Amino acid sequence: MMKAGIIRCQQTEDICPGDIDFKFAQTGQGAFAETGPVEIIGFVSCGGCPGKKVLQRAKLLVRKGVDMIVLASCMSRGNPLGFPCPHFQQIRNMLGEKIPQSIKILDWTH
Ligand code: SF4
Repeated sequence: MMKAGIIRCQQTEDICPGDIDFKFAQTGQGAFAETGPVEIIGFVSCGGCPGKKVLQRAKLLVRKGVDMIVLASCMSRGNPLGFPCPHFQQIRNMLGEKIPQSIKILDWTH
């Protein structure tokens, strides 16, 4: 079973505890259909706008042994408000450039 670290939008913490992320990760649904059920090693926020802390938090998750970094759908799809992160592509590009290529990146959860 692969190990995942999930990064979510800090702006949605008050309205979403990430329960669907956990459920989908544990049961291999949504974005996890391509990996099968995964073990969640860490679940952290982006650190707030504009998301510059994502890199150091992703590196922390890598040090903790994750095989993949998962950017939750609150970031990429704007769940549950329909308000995607305006910095998502920049954050995604930064991760693609700065974390080891061996670490898989998923852009959504559900
Ligand atoms: S940077 Fe994006 S993901 Fe992070 S709090 Fe702001 S809107 Fe949410």
